[in-house]
Amino acid sequence: MPQKTVYLETMGCQMNVLDSELVLGLLRAQGYEPTDDMTTADLALINTCSVRDHAEQKALSRLGSLKRPKQLHSGMIVGVIGCMAERDPDGIFASMPHVDLVCGPGELNKLPALIEDVHAGRTHAVALSQSLSRRSTPLQRALEYDSVEALDFSRNPEPGPGVLQSYVRVQRGCDKFCSFCVVPFTRGPERSRPPSQIIDETRMLADRGAREVTLLGQTVNSYVNQENGRPVRFAELLARVASVPGIERVRFVTNYPGDFTDDIFEVMRDVPELSHYLHLPVQSGSDAILKRMRREYTVGEYIDLIERGRDYIPDLSIASDFIVGFCGETEDDHEASLLLIERCRFKNIFVFKYSERPGTVARKRAGDDVPDEIKRRRNQELLAAQERISAAANRERIGSTVEVLVEGYSKAAVKAREAEQARGEEVGWRRSDQLVGRTWTDHIVVFPGAPEDIGRFADVRISDATALTLHGTSVRGSWERNRTCGAGSAASPGFESP
Ligand code: SF4
Repeated sequence: MPQKTVYLETMGCQMNVLDSELVLGLLRAQGYEPTDDMTTADLALINTCSVRDHAEQKALSRLGSLKRPKQLHSGMIVGVIGCMAERDPDGIFASMPHVDLVCGPGELNKLPALIEDVHAGRTHAVALSQSLSRRSTPLQRALEYDSVEALDFSRNPEPGPGVLQSYVRVQRGCDKFCSFCVVPFTRGPERSRPPSQIIDETRMLADRGAREVTLLGQTVNSYVNQENGRPVRFAELLARVASVPGIERVRFVTNYPGDFTDDIFEVMRDVPELSHYLHLPVQSGSDAILKRMRREYTVGEYIDLIERGRDYIPDLSIASDFIVGFCGETEDDHEASLLLIERCRFKNIFVFKYSERPGTVARKRAGDDVPDEIKRRRNQELLAAQERISAAANRERIGSTVEVLVEGYSKAAVKAREAEQARGEEVGWRRSDQLVGRTWTDHIVVFPGAPEDIGRFADVRISDATALTLHGTSVRGSWERNRTCGAGSAASPGFESP
C-alpha cells in the first residue's frame, strides 16, 4: 500500500511545537509519514496561534494556499488545529470552505477519529474543548481525568534527531484571564499533570537521548498537583525532574510574576541541573496599565521579585515580554516601561504591539486607541534600549570562559552545507564549522567545533560579542559532565570572571 503523507506547519509558542511533535507521533502510528511538500500531502495540517491578529491572518493565508493543491489532489484532507481552531471554527469554515476538519488543542488525541469521519464523507469534522469546567480549583481539576494525557504519552520512544533538547508539558490552560489574552478561552482552565507522569515521561526522554528538558506551562510556576494526600508544588517538581538520570539541564517557561515564590529560587540555587534563566513577562512598566491588563502585581513587586532572585542567584539572567500600545497607554506609561528596562537589565526582551482579540475583557471594555505608528515607534524604542543593554552586558563577557551545552551547527554552517549539497558537492561537516551552544544563563554561543561535540558540554573562551550572540573558541575538548563530582556546580554554573 502506498505510504500516506502528512504536512504539518506549526505557528506560535513552544506549546504548539510540542503539540505538533505529539501529533506527528500519533499520525505515524496511523501510517502517515511527514513530508515538506504541502502540495502533494494526503493530509495538510496547520497548527495555529490566536495570540495576535497577525498570527491568525498568517494561518488563513497558509490555508488559502492549500485550496489549489486540494483541488488538484483528490482525497487530500486539510485541517486546522491549535488555538485558532478552538477560538473560531465557524469563521474558519466560512472563510475557508476547503478545510475539512478543525481540532482544538485539548482534543488532539481525537485527530485520527476526525480523519476517519472525513474519509467516511463528513464535510466538516470538529473536536473542541468548550465543555471544560472552570468551576473547580486548579488542584481539584488536576485530579480530574484529562483526555489529552494519552497524547503526551504517545511520544515516540525511539532515539532520533532533535531529541537532545525536549519539551515536557507540566500544565495545560490558564486561569489568569489577563484582559488582553485569548489563551484561557482557547486552552481552557489551568490543569497540572500528575508529577509521576511528568517524571516517567522525562525518564523516557532521557532514555532516548535527551540531555536537556524544558518544562512547559502557561504559568508554569503555578504548578500544583496532589500526591499521596499532599500537594506537590513547582519547586519540588523541578528538583525531582532534575534528579532523573541522564538529564543534565532543566529549563522552564513561562512564569507568572504574581505567583512566583522564593522556594523556586532556592531550588534553582541548590540544584546544579537547573538553568539560571527565567522568562518572567512583565508586560508594562506602568502600574495603571498593569491594572488595566488585570496582571495581579505592581511594578514595585516585580522589581522586588527580580532583586530577591538576584540575591539568591547572582548570575540569574532574566528575559521579559512587553506589550506596547495597550488601551490608553500614554507617553508617561511608555516612559515607565523604558525606565523598567534600564532598571532590570534584562538579558533580552520580546516586544509585541497590542492587538485586540475577540472575547477578551480589553476588547469588550476598552478601545484599541493607540495609533499603529505610535505602537511601532514605542516598539522600536523598547527594543533599542534593550539592545544597548544586552550589547554592553555581552561585551563585558569578552575574555571570560563559559560552559555551554552544544546544541548543533550554527545557521550559517547549515546554510553553507546546504549550498554545497545544492552544487552537488559532497563535503560533509568540517572541524572549522561553527557550532552553537547555550550557557546556563541561556546565552547563545557560537564557536568552531566538530560533529562529536554536539550533545556534550564545552568550555568556550569568549572573544567577541553582539547584543544577541557570544563568539569564541573551545578551550577544553567537549566533555561529559560528571554529576557525582559536581561539575558545573551550583556555585558557578554560569560565567567565570575574565
Ligand atoms: S497569564 Fe495572562 S497572558 Fe499568560 S496565558 Fe494566562 S491570561 Fe494569557
